[in-house]
Amino acid sequence: MLEYNDHVAVAVSGGKDSLTMLNLLVKLEGRFPRSRLTAVCIDEGIEGYRDEALELARSACEKLGVKQVVASYRDLFGTTTDELARMSRGQTPCSYCGVFRRKAINRVATTIGATKIATGHNLDDEAQTILLNMLHGDPLRIVRSGPVLRDPRGKFVPRIKPLCDIPEKEIVLYAYLTGTDFQSVACPHGHEALRNDIRSFLNQMEQKHPGTKYTLIRSAEKLRSAQSTQSPLPELHECEKCGDPTPHELCEACVMLQAVAV
Ligand SMILES: [Zn+2]
Repeated sequence: MLEYNDHVAVAVSGGKDSLTMLNLLVKLEGRFPRSRLTAVCIDEGIEGYRDEALELARSACEKLGVKQVVASYRDLFGTTTDELARMSRGQTPCSYCGVFRRKAINRVATTIGATKIATGHNLDDEAQTILLNMLHGDPLRIVRSGPVLRDPRGKFVPRIKPLCDIPEKEIVLYAYLTGTDFQSVACPHGHEALRNDIRSFLNQMEQKHPGTKYTLIRSAEKLRSAQSTQSPLPELHECEKCGDPTPHELCEACVMLQAVAV
């Protein structure tokens, strides 16, 4: 995942995963004098929630001596998750928010010249996403994602998930043992009903059949290596609206913005 001269843009939300990842990366980075870390914090505009997390992220960065860059949906896209939730008529704001967050982090990482983007997805997140994609009827998304995402076309900064093999419980334990102050309240918009059901199902399965989550991850890895030789990646053009790389005329975020503007 990492090379000795990487400049890693660490996506820090202020939750237990991203702060644990930041802690660990700071320790690693200390051994590699040519590497660099910058914490990237995205302000989605979620009142009464993100402000607290940003403050926790700020004080963690200060304590660890990591440079921090904050970018907001308001500045980048002219809107916020709160506004999108009001306009999106029933659709879960999580789907918008995820697309915008990825886009925002990629923009910032490109601007600061980062060579990698690190996100705090853990084993539980990854296992849930694999099942979620199956149940959404989108198995190819499993093949396209993974712990290391490199864009051979060079348009997106490579993304890595250093904690993808670590169970959520162990991350919580690590955060408590290291005295990490993290945000523990859930996002007020967090109603991904299907993911919540999958989370409980996988936790039950893990209890009855230890290793279930790892098995899911390994299955996805086998699918990826079988598929990688077959399907060529689509060509990328500049989005007609924002100029970011996309295989279509408009990128996913611009299509979403257009849909809520109507
Ligand atoms: Zn666009």
